[in-house]
Amino acid sequence: MRIGAHVDPASPLEEAAARGAEAVQFFLTDPQGYKTPKPREDAAALRESEVDVYIHAPYIVNVASPNNRIRIPSRKLLVAHAKAAAELGAKGLIVHGGHVGQGTDIAAGFDNWRKAFEYAESDGGLPLPILIENTAGGDNACARRFDDLARLWEAVGSFGAGFCLDTCHAFAGGEDLVGVVDRVKAITGRIDLIHANDSKGGFDSGQDRHDNLGNGKIDPELIVAAIRAAGAPAVVETPGGAEGQTADITLLRERTGR
Ligand SMILES: [Zn+2]
Repeated sequence: MRIGAHVDPASPLEEAAARGAEAVQFFLTDPQGYKTPKPREDAAALRESEVDVYIHAPYIVNVASPNNRIRIPSRKLLVAHAKAAAELGAKGLIVHGGHVGQGTDIAAGFDNWRKAFEYAESDGGLPLPILIENTAGGDNACARRFDDLARLWEAVGSFGAGFCLDTCHAFAGGEDLVGVVDRVKAITGRIDLIHANDSKGGFDSGQDRHDNLGNGKIDPELIVAAIRAAGAPAVVETPGGAEGQTADITLLRERTGR
């Protein structure tokens, strides 16, 4: 089981080396824009590297949205990023669970997720696992509360969707981290990746504000316990650049015994 970091996309393998990371995650495009990824010059190096690669889809991707002008581009972008990520030998494409907004029945969001996978299948299929990530907030979010996650999984589980558990998002989203892995796995049957982050925001605050391990509101032992229980690789998405993230990776290695 590997431990790594979310890094700047310019030179991910150099960033991994600087942190002693066994896995890297990065964006292929501006996370706030609807850009299709371009081929990367380091594609072969990434494919052949010992470092495991994960790609994070742009934040603005919201395949659950009831708004056509968000949902349709989001769907296309998800497939484009999946194809580009597969070119790099990535293990998975992480995408947030999304939200439908105020005044819309959340059921529409689950149905839109199902349609996104159907669209992908009609477009040649997904070349790597899509890892849906739980979120800290969002109006009528599809993957904040685990009772909603269960309904989401009824819609997408049969398409082979994977799951990425973010410890900051779970805590700030109002889900107890004690026993969190068992509760998620009872719903999804799998955890493919852990985003091991502390939270600046309090429990159930809805705030997506990551912190270095031990600096925020979460007992680091709960994060360590989640990684152990999941038996999944972990990526820190924490501040402080190489120095801050190396300290977080070291803490996780020491306490998980990896
Ligand atoms: Zn995350």
